[in-house]
Amino acid sequence: MERIVIIGSGQGGQQAASSLRQEGYQGQILLLGEEPGLPYQRPPLSKAYMANGDAGALTLKPASFYDRAAISLQDRTRVSRIERVTREVVTEAGARHAYDHLILATGARNFRPPIAGLDAPGVVELRTLSDAAHIRDSLAATGHAVVIGGGFIGLEFAAMARAAGVAVTVIEASPRLMARAVSPGMSARFLELHREMGCTIIFDALADAILHDPHGAAAGVALRDGRQIAGDLVLVATGVRPNVELAADAGLVCDNGIRVDGQLLTSDPAISALGDVASFPDPDGVHIRLESVQAAVDHARHIARRLVHGSAADYAALPWFWSDQGKFKLQIAGLSTGADRVMSLPQPQAELLVLAFRAGRLIAVETLSAPALHMAGRRLIGASFEMLEAHGFDLRAAVKAMAEPV
Ligand SMILES: Cc1cc2nc3c(=O)[nH]c(=O)nc-3n(C[C@H](O)[C@H](O)[C@H](O)COP(=O)(O)OP(=O)(O)OC[C@H]3O[C@@H](n4cnc5c(N)ncnc54)[C@H](O)[C@@H]3O)c2cc1C
Repeated sequence: MERIVIIGSGQGGQQAASSLRQEGYQGQILLLGEEPGLPYQRPPLSKAYMANGDAGALTLKPASFYDRAAISLQDRTRVSRIERVTREVVTEAGARHAYDHLILATGARNFRPPIAGLDAPGVVELRTLSDAAHIRDSLAATGHAVVIGGGFIGLEFAAMARAAGVAVTVIEASPRLMARAVSPGMSARFLELHREMGCTIIFDALADAILHDPHGAAAGVALRDGRQIAGDLVLVATGVRPNVELAADAGLVCDNGIRVDGQLLTSDPAISALGDVASFPDPDGVHIRLESVQAAVDHARHIARRLVHGSAADYAALPWFWSDQGKFKLQIAGLSTGADRVMSLPQPQAELLVLAFRAGRLIAVETLSAPALHMAGRRLIGASFEMLEAHGFDLRAAVKAMAEPV
């Protein structure tokens, strides 16, 4: 295989290029990304970067890495078409690049909900470094920020804005925080924490329209029930949509993402997909899409191993995730979908442990500010309820017992 082209130079695209070289791939690697500059990590955009503004700390690898590893990186390069018959990609500027294998790592973009007035100055979103720099510049002059969406990114931003002395109101459509991703017990704990940080949170509230000041700039949010929340910065953080258009236009099967098989191959065996944009089968064969650094990185490593060594194993990495909200760290190991038993186990120093089981097996572990429990939880996914019960649900003791010879 002489040339591998990767579209999208974010977390997963960059990892795919690095992993191909680590696995010993000798051919050409072309990494095409539409954003300016070196590939960078997004998680700090809503965390440390909001406080320190250090863009250099986000860079995944220095420029010298790409030279040394002979990875041809082209930034500010948007791919507009894939021509599968001739195996070429075509950039917006009209350049054509042939590939023997193509990796789609186009990620996701923020969802724009049907709210009137979203184009007003003062309405912001957070996905890219450029978005984060704009928000950071605006924060200094912000008195009251309104966050539409009580998910990870909205809440991480809320905590950072509170720490910067800005008043914050979060508007959430569902009855609890992070409802798509965490247990009710963990949602309730984070609600307490955000209230202690001084954040106002409104549930079951649908944003209907942006309010304007006399100059047309955002002045708050009108809710569907008639309430009005005043604010001079409005962050829209209502989830993302996968960037499937390139793949769909090229005739690849897409369904909530680019559909891939257990080896992360699309419906065209010359094209793989990874990360936020990939809809891949979980161990039960159900297609899922994960928006996490872990998925992007582990997908990339799996694809590199397959391309270099021809390994035919199915992708089976354990999902894990984290979110830092102020000084509190939420960590999740496994996936709680289909849980039939959920246990909230308060820990010393206000830490929290939540165990989710399905059919008597541990499927997910959520922790609040308890990294050692999270690491133990990762090792215990799949363990039986009885085994954990025998250890009084002390995860560290259970891991120790597993490691001891019988
Ligand atoms: C503010 C924020 C905080 C986050 N925090 C966490 C966290 O705490 N923990 C966690 O696990 N995850 C977090 N995430 C999610 C994580 O960053 C993503 O899951 C990860 O970046 C996905 O990697 P990816 O390679 O699939 O997509 P991305 O990293 O998004 O990269 C996709 C790239 O493809 C480019 N692209 C798209 N279409 C084209 C095209 N046609 N031509 C050329 N280039 C194209 C895009 O511009 C983008 O640069 C966070 C995300 C954000 C935005």
